[in-house]
Amino acid sequence: MDMQPLVDRHVRIATDLRVSLTDRCNLRCSYCMPAEGLDWRPHEAARTDDEVVRLITIGVERLGIDEVRFTGGEPLLRAGLADLVSRTKALTPSPDVSITTNGLGLDKSADRLAAAGLDRINVSLDTIRRPDFATIPRRDRLDDVIAGLAAAQAAGLDPVKVNAVLLRGVNDDQAPELLRWCLERGYQLRFIEQMPLDPQHGWARDDMVTADEILASLEGSFELTPARAARGSSPAEEFTVDGGPATVGVIASVTRPFCGDCDRVRLTADGQVRDCLFATTESDLRTPLRAGASDAELAERWVAAMRGKRAGHGIDDPTFLQPDRPMSAIGG
Ligand code: SAM
Repeated sequence: MDMQPLVDRHVRIATDLRVSLTDRCNLRCSYCMPAEGLDWRPHEAARTDDEVVRLITIGVERLGIDEVRFTGGEPLLRAGLADLVSRTKALTPSPDVSITTNGLGLDKSADRLAAAGLDRINVSLDTIRRPDFATIPRRDRLDDVIAGLAAAQAAGLDPVKVNAVLLRGVNDDQAPELLRWCLERGYQLRFIEQMPLDPQHGWARDDMVTADEILASLEGSFELTPARAARGSSPAEEFTVDGGPATVGVIASVTRPFCGDCDRVRLTADGQVRDCLFATTESDLRTPLRAGASDAELAERWVAAMRGKRAGHGIDDPTFLQPDRPMSAIGG
């Protein structure tokens, strides 16, 4: 079978597939969802496990996808997650398989996921202060996340990465303590700049905590040295901490965009291809898939969907329009 790369008109090739398994979540992070939650998409809209695996197989076998990350919403809410991991790992060539999760329930599933072949895991944790769990994820679940992280490490998922978003006036003073906490436990911390993807449209450029501010705050307590000359397609700028080997990363999607090196493509839980987190259009694969399209036809549609990928997300452009889909319904 001929491999047809997912190449766009700016000659970037997508090889890293983010697969959202659900738009549902059991936390209500203030920058991601309103306190009352969202209207979830109906269950029948979501792809079945077989549909998910069929699309991933087309991506891997025909389109050159070599990394698959399951996300959401909260991917651990998907009952068949371990099975999806093992079926994805069993493809030829076998892709790198990872998940991004809030860690709730990971203490019970980490061993099963590791046995299924999961390569890596990212756990989101924005604060280690219990009172701030009431205002950021809006659920008193700090102990569950901590237990999930420990279980991932014990299951041999290495490195365990922690993702943190800092919010002005809430946890923007906590970067050093979060880093110290992660260093003590051997977790790799990465800060993500807050992006305009919240359904409340509460994001404001002037109000977001920038990579420069995060680094300045860390440099008050640690010696940071750029860890490598070029980051390639990795979104994180990595720094060694106090001479290494430990590192910390900053993903500056807003202030230091890396769109020119982007190698990502996304599949939403309801089967839409998105060529960018900030795309305002998407391409439907679920309808043709359910109407009996062949693998070759679905691959053709997918290739066509990627051609129009814009050069950049344009957040700083005055004409920038936030996408209708919030982060939780795209797949972060
Ligand atoms: N529920 C899983 C989790 O919590 O990791 C996966 C989905 S969540 C949308 C994925 C990541 O996106 C999390 O690390 C979360 O903090 C981040 N995120 C959500 N909204 C964001 C925003 N507006 N800007 C930056 N990161 C965001």
